[in-house]
Amino acid sequence: MNRMFNILIIEDEESHIELIKRGFSDYPQYKLTFVYSIADAKKCISENNINVIISDWRLPDGEGIDLVGYMKPKGFFPIILMTSFGNQEFAVEAMKLGVIDYVVKSPESFNRLPYTVGRAIREWENVVARERAEKALRESETRYRAYVETTKDAIFQVDLSGNFIFVNNAGTLAVNVEKNEIIGKNITEYFPESYIKFQMEAIEQVVKTKKPIDFLMPLPVNGSLRELDVALFPFTNKEGDIESIIGVSHDITDIKRTEKALKISEANLREQSELLYNILRHIPDYIYWKDNQSVYRGCNDNFAKSFGFDSTNKIVGKTDYDLYGNKEEAEKIISGDLSVMENGKPLLNNEEETINLSNEKIIISKNLIPLKDSEGKRAGIMGMYSDITKRKNSDAELRKLSRATEQSPALIVITDTKGNIEYVNPSFEKVTGYLSSDVKGKNSNLLKSGYTPRSVYNDLWNTLLSGNEWRGEFQNKKKNGELYWEAASISAIKNEKGKITHFIAVKEDITKRKELEFDLKHAVDQSEESSRLKSSLLSNMSHELRTPLNGILGLSQILIEEMTDTSLSSFAKKIYLAGKRLMITLNSILDLSEIESNTTQINKIEYDLGTQINYLLTQYIYAAKEKGLNFSVNILDDNITALVDERLCNQVLINLVDNAVKYTEKGKIEISIEKEIIHEVCYLKICISDTGIGISQENIPLIFEEFRQVSEGFNRSFEGSGLGLTLVKKMLLLLEGKLKVESEIGIGSKFIVYLPGKVKKSEDVSELETSSALPEIENKNNPSVLLVEDNAINKEVITCYIENFCDVDGVSDGIEAIEKAGEKQYDIVLMDINLGHGMDGIEATKEIKKISGYNDIPFVALTGYAMSGDKERLLREGLTHYLPKPFEKEDLQRLLKSVLGL
Ligand code: ADP
Repeated sequence: MNRMFNILIIEDEESHIELIKRGFSDYPQYKLTFVYSIADAKKCISENNINVIISDWRLPDGEGIDLVGYMKPKGFFPIILMTSFGNQEFAVEAMKLGVIDYVVKSPESFNRLPYTVGRAIREWENVVARERAEKALRESETRYRAYVETTKDAIFQVDLSGNFIFVNNAGTLAVNVEKNEIIGKNITEYFPESYIKFQMEAIEQVVKTKKPIDFLMPLPVNGSLRELDVALFPFTNKEGDIESIIGVSHDITDIKRTEKALKISEANLREQSELLYNILRHIPDYIYWKDNQSVYRGCNDNFAKSFGFDSTNKIVGKTDYDLYGNKEEAEKIISGDLSVMENGKPLLNNEEETINLSNEKIIISKNLIPLKDSEGKRAGIMGMYSDITKRKNSDAELRKLSRATEQSPALIVITDTKGNIEYVNPSFEKVTGYLSSDVKGKNSNLLKSGYTPRSVYNDLWNTLLSGNEWRGEFQNKKKNGELYWEAASISAIKNEKGKITHFIAVKEDITKRKELEFDLKHAVDQSEESSRLKSSLLSNMSHELRTPLNGILGLSQILIEEMTDTSLSSFAKKIYLAGKRLMITLNSILDLSEIESNTTQINKIEYDLGTQINYLLTQYIYAAKEKGLNFSVNILDDNITALVDERLCNQVLINLVDNAVKYTEKGKIEISIEKEIIHEVCYLKICISDTGIGISQENIPLIFEEFRQVSEGFNRSFEGSGLGLTLVKKMLLLLEGKLKVESEIGIGSKFIVYLPGKVKKSEDVSELETSSALPEIENKNNPSVLLVEDNAINKEVITCYIENFCDVDGVSDGIEAIEKAGEKQYDIVLMDINLGHGMDGIEATKEIKKISGYNDIPFVALTGYAMSGDKERLLREGLTHYLPKPFEKEDLQRLLKSVLGL
């Protein structure tokens, strides 16, 4: 689109106006406004945007030239003056004043007026553009000069030889000289040589390459070494030749310093944040942070691990719905987060129940901290929690323990390692009378009574300090001075490093027990004493009763054999039988008393009953035969021995066989021995069966009671003390054996005894075989026997028993015996043990054994000491064989024949 121009024409001559209008008629881009006076022109100018003014010189209210002065301040200029007269001077004058063109009025010039206007506009625009450019240049120069002179950078210009052409303020300040002084001077005058060389080389390079260069160089400025960033530019003339060099030196010392400081602080910051991050990652707590929508943005290792993730990154972007399978749990956590974010206050040490990965309930202590951005707006949340389930549980355990300690009936004292009391429980207060406040901080030795021996305390400390538990008893003192006994268990309490930090004493007040123990001990002592007296009484009684009985039985037996008068011999027989019965009763009473007083000595051996039984039961076999009974002994298994005390075992058997013979009038008595394994335990089983009167089932329990018989009262039909089975039962108890009874009235009875058994080893040899290993007697004449016996009747009876196959020398005491042995070598010594006053049989044996030829001969103890343990004691003392009184003629004869190999 063409530009439109508003032309203001000031003309008062109508004909001229007409001509002007005609002249512009073909130029629609010019919009003409006509006024007649300067005043109207001014008005029009102020109201319209006029581009060009064409004014007549002479106007009714002044000259057109006046408008130049009027327009100048408005910056509006292209004014074309029209005159009716063509005066050159006048034109020059008008142009000087600022008129752009001058037209001499003529029809032709009116026609050309649009060209004149066009040229004026163009010219004016050129002027305006030039003025604008000049202004801009002026401004820019001012600006640059201001910059150059105010900048802190040193700016300088040197010619190619290094002479200063220009130096700005900062430059002169840097070298500390006046501006006018430095111009024309060479750089060598102001800088050290080493720097000059460097600078000159740089200038040479710029000249050579015609390109700017930039380099860093240190330079001492005003006494301090500064780091400069120097840029050199080539300054060329119109022909492009380098005339000079412009340099800008920027002091970057401070920047460098700041940069360095910044770098250090950045490094520090990085280091610190790395450290913090590492700490955060490895903190044993669970830590996470979320955005304000409760979406996870990060977490520490532990938190990730607790949800089964191997990397913390895997948490990012997840929500609690993803982490917890449980929707309710997720909602609970999110709403907790949101409420903390909303109210902006941290939630600290909040105990909550939640679930872990394995869906187990755990207790956590949680901290929620709202996060804010730099503008203080809500940015998310940080959560930290630790699993306190164990602590909670152990707290509960601890509470339980402490309650147990508080309520324990035991006295509990906790001290430090020096024994200073730190804790006592209520039981301690109750028993000792000391309150906790009385003893706290005091040493535990305030309880000492002085009656506990020092050695106990020494032992206590040695045990404790070696890390062991000490148990023992103290006699301590209460607050009121009263003594009391306590049983204490004291042990060390150690810390995690195994160092002893405390001692704990758990004590029991045993004063009452101690008193009871004292009473008991007293009672035991008394009972032991009475038992000792009893057993000594029994032993003496046994001796005193057996010795005369031996005489009665022995002599009556001799009378029976020797007397030809049948009526007298039947008296003798009655004496014998009465004596025998007395002896059985005596044995039973003594055995029972011994068992009752617990003085029975048990000497368990491997007893080969099978080889002894016939010998043991000889008199019963004889008695059975006399009654016309069949008597048989069957050893069904000869490979077994009984693990028993020999004497008690024999007594059991004798009592049962005695009964069998006694209560059987016709038929038979059978005894069998065999092995039986019950529950993998080996037993020796002995059956004694008879075809006697039998016992009814209801009477079976009764027969084991003391002094009880099936037929009792004055019309009882059988003799007996009623003690036999009682003894059997008690003895079997001592032998760890058992008894079974099977019986039927009129048919018979069967007593079955089980004794601990043992299968014989092949090399086992019986006692009889051992005895037969004694030296053989070469002399085929009657063996010579030294009989030592203080009781004259017994001496006579014994001599009588054996004189038909032995040469017997009888003496009454030990001294005589030793003398006799010294005079003659005997084959065997029969020694009574109790020899009245003076030397006893044991001493006499020992003395005789010292005489040469007597060490290896048999010494048989013939004694009234027939209680348990007597045999073993005598064999230990040096006697080789033992026969208790009262014994029968056969017993002695059998023994001698076996010992002497006759
Ligand atoms: P005693 O035989 O001295 O009377 P025991 O204690 O040996 O005492 O026996 C108690 C009772 O048991 C006997 O009196 C007798 O009635 C009964 N008795 C024991 N053994 C037999 C037996 N083999 N046959 C029948 N009765 C027996």
